[in-house]
Amino acid sequence: MSEASELAGASALVTGGTSGIGRATALALAGLGARVVLSGRDADRGGKVVAEIEAAGGEAHFVAADLRDETSARTLAREAAALVGPLDILVNNAGIFPFGPTGEATEADFDATYGLNVKAPYFLVSEIAPGMAERGRGSIINVSTMVAEYGADGMALYGSSKAALVLLTKAWAAEYGPRGVRVNAVSPGPTLTEGTAGMPDGSLDALASQAPAGRPGTTQEVAAAIVYLATDRSSFVQGAVLPVDGGRIAV
Ligand code: NAP
Repeated sequence: MSEASELAGASALVTGGTSGIGRATALALAGLGARVVLSGRDADRGGKVVAEIEAAGGEAHFVAADLRDETSARTLAREAAALVGPLDILVNNAGIFPFGPTGEATEADFDATYGLNVKAPYFLVSEIAPGMAERGRGSIINVSTMVAEYGADGMALYGSSKAALVLLTKAWAAEYGPRGVRVNAVSPGPTLTEGTAGMPDGSLDALASQAPAGRPGTTQEVAAAIVYLATDRSSFVQGAVLPVDGGRIAV
């Protein structure tokens, strides 16, 4: 099989596909022949990613979605399926990463973080995974973070939301795995994206310097791990959380 046809005929939804890790994942999946729906709030950025995929000979569609609750998640899942058919691959990538003291986070910060990082993946899976299970196949990849794995000062809100996603990964592997749906997660370390570009000068490098690799990762490096989990290359991998963090949580 040529690489460009590995995912021929497969349909995929990548949330947060307008930027960073999600954009690189959408490009990579489309490059393997998948028909990709990418979501986000920003139609300009979405249109640019779609154009880039089409220019490379792939198929992509943008669906605008402000993910925050059950309705927004279920609506996105239905709109995606209407465009590319029943979904074979779901990448729960959209996320926000607020850092700071626990005492300074507001209830609105808490709700926005858990709404996007936990509630939206929960109801996307609720809408999509049962159909995958009926068809006997599917791959769901959740994008966590290394700071879901250990206690980090200033990352209580963000880390705890992703820790919930890690447990959901394992619970869904137990629930849907026996019916052919593999559910896994990647756990990136500091990665150069549009989202992290706004962090204070030097802070991403400082975080990255704690890991054996000693440098931030690229979006392509994280996307490569997501592609591994999305394809049959990982056919016996279920409920795994794959660190893509330059070795940070190993040491
Ligand atoms: P990014 O560049 O900031 O992109 C975030 C994406 O999420 C965008 O496509 C954005 O689209 C979408 N998004 C944000 N809020 C949304 C909302 N309310 N509804 C729907 N979509 C929304 O992020 P990134 O750095 O690539 O991170 C991607 C994922 O990796 C996140 O889950 C993050 O927690 C995780 N991660 C990142 C790093 C890192 O160092 N970069 C490390 C570990 C884990 P719009 O702006 O178009 O809405």
